[in-house]
Amino acid sequence: MSNARFNHYLTVMFCCVTLFAASASRAEQVVVYSARIEQLIKPMFDAFTKESGIDVKFVTDKEGPLLARLKAEGKNTPADMLITSDAGNLWEAAREGLLRPVESKTLEANIPAHLRDPQKQWFGLSVRARTIIYNTDKVKPSDLSTYEALAEPKWKGRLCLRTSKKVYNQSLVAMMIAEHGEAKTEQIVKGWVDNLATDPLSDDTKAMEFVAAGKCDVTIANSYYYGRLMEKNPALPLAIFWPNQESSGVHVNISGAGVTKYARHPDAAVKLLEFLSSEKAQNLFADVNMEYPVNPKVKIDPAVAAWGTFKQNTINVNKAGELQAEAVKLMDRAGYR
Ligand code: FE
Repeated sequence: MSNARFNHYLTVMFCCVTLFAASASRAEQVVVYSARIEQLIKPMFDAFTKESGIDVKFVTDKEGPLLARLKAEGKNTPADMLITSDAGNLWEAAREGLLRPVESKTLEANIPAHLRDPQKQWFGLSVRARTIIYNTDKVKPSDLSTYEALAEPKWKGRLCLRTSKKVYNQSLVAMMIAEHGEAKTEQIVKGWVDNLATDPLSDDTKAMEFVAAGKCDVTIANSYYYGRLMEKNPALPLAIFWPNQESSGVHVNISGAGVTKYARHPDAAVKLLEFLSSEKAQNLFADVNMEYPVNPKVKIDPAVAAWGTFKQNTINVNKAGELQAEAVKLMDRAGYR
């Protein structure tokens, strides 16, 4: 048997064994590929199964391998739903043709328009705020105002940034391009680079540790990393500042989900998506990671609410995907590594 034929034979066998297995068990099910780790998703899946009787099977991995796997599996994928963080990643999955549009009045009612795909292929399920973190011994809140102002000369040698290679600052810069255009954004990013106290750091936590240690005075990080770090070390001289409150608002991103193009259980997948956006699941989804609910009817976790309220930027987060390639090129031109 030729290799191709043998592979085909295997595929047919696999398909029929799977179909048989599916028809043998009467319980409805939905299969999820998740870049959110098990501790962050399992409690919601259990609650969903309890309410709906639909079993949730899931695989967790980093978003890169999950997207590659979805692409490679094509029509044969067992996955009905993809959960991942960052609008840039969800946008990419949609661009690759891995997701399908979902019509749902429930999702549209539960999720504000700027936190879901205008083409309806993905939906935000939690909000993450990317904000300014400062050293309380060295900086007064009145010294701070906007992300853009961190490019001013008064911050020379005082700024730490996470590497431009990771999606979070790519998304931040993409959203700045959406707001200011390329030329002005490039000036701002160059100003940041001029103000760096150290080479860009590997992650948000490291950047905050540098600020706490006095190696720099200020950085930009997702608030849940601040929450985790302060839970471990409540004495660190760090605080949150909510920037751009007089202008565009705090840069927000999402973690979210979409139903796969080749889902075998699309109805069950939509039910799960609707459940995750509901008041019942939203606290579980957001609170386990100290994020914010997308559903405005849901109360914020008290530990997170203690950081204060803020106005968020309401430009649609899909711009983080649309402008990601331009953002990466711009950061490179500006010398931001
Ligand atoms: Fe993160």
